[in-house]
Amino acid sequence: MRAEVAVVDGKNPDRGIIEKAGQILKNGGLVAFPTETVYGLGGNALDPEASIKIYAAKGRPSDNPLIVHIAEMGSLEKIAADIPEKARILAGKYWPGPLTMILPKAAIVPGETTGGLDSVAVRFPSDPVAQALIRAAGGFVAAPSANTSGRPSPTRAEHVEEDLGDAIDMILDGGPVGIGLESTIVDFTEKVPVVLRPGYISLEMLEETLGEVRMDRGLLITDENIRPKAPGMKYRHYAPAADLSVVEGPQEKVIAFINQRAKEAAEAGGRTGIIATDETAGRYEEGIVRSIGSREEEEGIARHLYEVLRNFDSDQVSEIYSEAFYTPKMGQAIMNRLLKAAGHKVIHIPEEEEK
Ligand code: AMP
Ligand code: MG
Repeated sequence: MRAEVAVVDGKNPDRGIIEKAGQILKNGGLVAFPTETVYGLGGNALDPEASIKIYAAKGRPSDNPLIVHIAEMGSLEKIAADIPEKARILAGKYWPGPLTMILPKAAIVPGETTGGLDSVAVRFPSDPVAQALIRAAGGFVAAPSANTSGRPSPTRAEHVEEDLGDAIDMILDGGPVGIGLESTIVDFTEKVPVVLRPGYISLEMLEETLGEVRMDRGLLITDENIRPKAPGMKYRHYAPAADLSVVEGPQEKVIAFINQRAKEAAEAGGRTGIIATDETAGRYEEGIVRSIGSREEEEGIARHLYEVLRNFDSDQVSEIYSEAFYTPKMGQAIMNRLLKAAGHKVIHIPEEEEK
């Protein structure tokens, strides 16, 4: 069956539609909905069968736990067995918002939802549609990103339809999302809080509120023996169909290098995709060039990343080259996703030619 797509006002969603979607979740069905980060694929988090359905719809490995979404501060006590003071402080500062916290789970959270772990990931999103749906569903909605596992996360309802239109019951279309990258995940099950996934809320912002915060070693080092602690971060992810490489170095040299590769590909009858910026897009001579936005506006780069990656899938390019985007605030999160999409294929062009 094809999912029903219901267009809702992103700020003030229609009650009737939300009630209907909430009822689907209460009955064990699946509904995709917008959040401020990316679109989520929701199921009742306290219903093991609903979680099993989420894994099946996405083709997601079942050891990759789901984030439980709540819509009231008080709900946290019901699903977390222990809430350290620092977690309360951080929630007070950034909830509702793009922050997920890992805490010891309470007994009511089924192992199917947490991928068998005894901890649970919790987030209180700020998006009004998400909040209304969570309340209508009874307060606890498990929701990974609403994409087929491995593909770029959806930032518009159309992306969800493309991937999951045949696998779920309903899609709430609240328009394009605001942030475009998944939430920052902070693990509170160790003494010092650990960032398991970078996001809009940066390490610096966390340190300002919490003092010492560490980055998960698995995020910093590309060593196969060091596994990221968030099970989901170990998979190749967010990836377009074509082979993607990130080219970093001085801007002029990066442009020249990509132009050379695109020219060689064209001569061999191939087609190259290029991820550029507003400032550089006009400098590329061959291939399909997509601007991710202006380097002056890093939030736009974050918001457009997945859509640009996804759009190359319909262009039949054989390879994609992307500039690097080490922007001041969100650069860590943007490059984390881009490098994962590239399977960590980076071409580094040195400042000076080595002699
Ligand atoms: P997604 O739902 O697609 O945004 O992915 C959720 C991310 O949160 C994945 O990388 C999971 O591995 C991670 N995650 C969820 N629950 C836990 C947990 N209890 N401990 C560590 N990581 C978690
Ligand atoms: Mg995901």
